[in-house]
Amino acid sequence: MHPKGIKYFHGVPYRVFYRRVKYARLEFYSGILNLILPYGRSAQEILNKKQNWIVKKYNFIQASKKSAQNLPLKDRTRNELRIIIQEFIKEAEDTLSVRVNKLIIRRMKTKWGSCSNRGTITINSLARYLPDELIRYLVFHEVNHILFWKHDKGFWNNLKNAIGTEPSKYEELLTLYWFKISEME
Ligand SMILES: [Zn+2]
Repeated sequence: MHPKGIKYFHGVPYRVFYRRVKYARLEFYSGILNLILPYGRSAQEILNKKQNWIVKKYNFIQASKKSAQNLPLKDRTRNELRIIIQEFIKEAEDTLSVRVNKLIIRRMKTKWGSCSNRGTITINSLARYLPDELIRYLVFHEVNHILFWKHDKGFWNNLKNAIGTEPSKYEELLTLYWFKISEME
């Protein structure tokens, strides 16, 4: 069945939206390519021009979804999630010698977490499905942002020292889990 408005380009499902924008924008959302075009712009022309990028990106998403299928999930309540996050915040505060001002747990559309410059940590409520060690990593990552605003060398070195292992391993896992979990709620 083809949902309304969905067409296919070399096997890649896409939708076209015309908006008051200056430039064409292409983004994947839930495995579907959204084409946001300025009025009067031809969809076919953009698709042809970006064909390599589109097909590559789509294949990457499909492959990630497939390898994400067997990842184990937890099923915590929101309250259980809050409790475990608070424990990890305490640990991260001690290890990194910083203070977290406030914790917010809410559904975020595009990321696992964020950190404001006032020391507010926001964690995606979908983290309730993640294994403990990934929640721990997520908390350390966000708390580390109080000290390092950007993902620069200092940020990664400090995080690596704090958790005692290479962050990239966890970052990859979080990306895989995103493909599995982001469409669940
Ligand atoms: Zn970050």
